Amino acid sequence: MEAELMEPVKKAVHELDALFKPRSIAIIGASQKELSIGNVIIKNLVHYGYTGALYPINPKMDEIRGIKAYPTIFEVPDEIDLAHVIIPAKFVPQTIEDCGKKGIKAVIINSAGFSEMGEEGVALQNEFLSIAKKYGIRIFGPNCQGIINSDPEYKAYCDFTFTFPKPGKISIVALSGGVGAFIMQSLFDLDIGMRMYASNGNASDVSIPDVIKYYGDDEETKAIILYTEGLSNPLEFMEVAKSVTKKKPILAMKAGRTEEGAKAAASHTGSLAGVDISTELIFEKTGILAFNNEEELCQVAMAFATQPFPKGNRVGVITNTGGPAVIATDELINSGLRLPALSEKAKSILQTTMLPEATIGNPIDVVATGGGAHFRSAMDVLMEEDEIDSIYINFVTAPFTDTDEVARNIVEVSQLKKKPVVCNFMTNMSLERFQETARILKDGGVPCYSFPTTAAKALGALYRYSKTRSRNIGEPKDFPGIDKKKADVIIRQAQKEGKSYLAADGVYEILTAYGIPVADWWLANDIFEAESAAENIGYPVVIKVESSAIVHKSDIGGVAINLKNAAEVTETLEKMKLKFGTRNVKYLVQKFLPGGKELIAGVSTKAGLGHLIMFGLGGIYVEVLKDVVFKIAPVTELEAGEMLSSIKAAKLLDGVRGEKAINKEMVIDIIQRVSKLVTDFPMITEMDMNPIIAIHDKVYVVDARIKID
Ligand code: ADP
Ligand code: MG
Repeated sequence: MEAELMEPVKKAVHELDALFKPRSIAIIGASQKELSIGNVIIKNLVHYGYTGALYPINPKMDEIRGIKAYPTIFEVPDEIDLAHVIIPAKFVPQTIEDCGKKGIKAVIINSAGFSEMGEEGVALQNEFLSIAKKYGIRIFGPNCQGIINSDPEYKAYCDFTFTFPKPGKISIVALSGGVGAFIMQSLFDLDIGMRMYASNGNASDVSIPDVIKYYGDDEETKAIILYTEGLSNPLEFMEVAKSVTKKKPILAMKAGRTEEGAKAAASHTGSLAGVDISTELIFEKTGILAFNNEEELCQVAMAFATQPFPKGNRVGVITNTGGPAVIATDELINSGLRLPALSEKAKSILQTTMLPEATIGNPIDVVATGGGAHFRSAMDVLMEEDEIDSIYINFVTAPFTDTDEVARNIVEVSQLKKKPVVCNFMTNMSLERFQETARILKDGGVPCYSFPTTAAKALGALYRYSKTRSRNIGEPKDFPGIDKKKADVIIRQAQKEGKSYLAADGVYEILTAYGIPVADWWLANDIFEAESAAENIGYPVVIKVESSAIVHKSDIGGVAINLKNAAEVTETLEKMKLKFGTRNVKYLVQKFLPGGKELIAGVSTKAGLGHLIMFGLGGIYVEVLKDVVFKIAPVTELEAGEMLSSIKAAKLLDGVRGEKAINKEMVIDIIQRVSKLVTDFPMITEMDMNPIIAIHDKVYVVDARIKID
């Protein structure tokens, strides 16, 4: 036949296609025993309607679950794309060797007993990995569930779980099989459908970023749900996530942020960042939508599976009942949306189409007696409004209306996909009549929710994504005047001397070299030097004890402020000398800057991620309020600005009750320069500038510490 001679249409082949789109699967360790993994996987594949060839491998069986079995993979007459390995850990390396010889391209190792089991397991894992590498096999797992692809062309249920989703637009990737499974179940219960699923356990080879990238390239995947606990390669993850979130949303659970962690002591930047916030920061930097609540995440996914993204934050509300519209409005506003007034044109149309008792505004109250035509006209008008980006509907199934007709109209307009539509659908699902109404909405792809707040949150999340997608954090700034050489000399010298904290003069010189303004200072060795320094700086001054052994100077009486003349300086120094002695102790004389706002900026490091930059309210407030925020370095100007506006006390920076605002530009500049400093010098592991005093349009660092490796 001619058709057979024709070249098939070439689809781009992806390295992970053997895993997610297998044409044939061997189950190595296939078992006769019901309830064993080697049996359940075959059962699942058959039950789900796997379209390819199945080869149970078992030396003692002729057939398993009615499918012809083979003693080894070498007896299998055909090519095998994917193998499940469900055998004791110690036999796995040899099996991978066999898979390589057979030309198998991907292996899911369900068996446990590897890196999760300590040293011996790690060795076994490394052994099979190097064999896999030799043959170019991609390994999924070990100690994992597997993958599912609901695509009717494959129907690959390579997993031992028990939820059988219909094809859909959402793909799930979860490190934890338990979380993955309940998310899948939740999507199933919500009747959302699922595209692909992957839970990779030990993630020895195919990683979470690998899977995200694959989903990113998969045209049928409209949104990705992610669950991870920490990231083994944060930089790789960030790169992948950044590019995928530009194409499609990634919805993720915030995990690993415990009460205990949040209560961590707050004496300096390091412990303020002690809570595992790095995953959250990565999500923020890469545009992943983070959720605190797994139920909300799944509910929101329903809107992501069906709706377009809004162009802006302006929502039009249609309701046939009052109270729920009030609740919805609160949550819509909470989510950063707003309800603009309708145009005159819109109002004049609605005057003619609505019932006389309807309220024409935003919300549009079509009232409980409003029918399909009323909902229709309200939706049509909102779809035409330039000032409206999305539509929220409250629909209570009032017994005196043709609710099916209402549902059909909502579906028709929403299917234009011009603007996103969500519906808070209030009904009694035990009544057959309303089940039909619900079915019309569901089949029509209208995301329906049982609570106004949930529906509003879903719309809010759609908006959050479109905002994230268009957010461009820009590139970190280059600061031409920086004297990197000077900082380099100071840091090298300290390293040579084996110091972990830089001396005060070194710290201030580095800050100055990086263009970070510091209060006038002098490091004095004796009273005579201190007095002339004070004279030069100009009274009033501050005197601080300087010693590598002292961390919190003021706690032990090592800071004396507002010294107005030479006599006060001398008296203070005499006292401090009695207290701290003279060995290895110096005295920092500094300009006194009273009445300013105290801020803090700092740096800590996170293994595999580099530096975190911190900003917040400084001085004593750090300890009490812990009002600080973090970002991953390098920080751009936009991000630095976001840091100022995202602390809880952001309004304080603008000045309250007639107070003048602080010079925010200068603070934003300082944050970027600190980011530049630690990016230039990765050996800086910790840094604190507390306080930075903002006073009279200017900003000065008056206390700083730098720790190096
Ligand atoms: P430490 O943090 O080691 O206790 P600081 O140098 O931060 O010592 O000083 C403690 C507090 O003293 C600061 O939070 C600030 O309130 C005040 N202070 C220190 N230096 C100055 C200064 N130059 N001008 C005004 N107040 C200062
Ligand atoms: Mg301090």
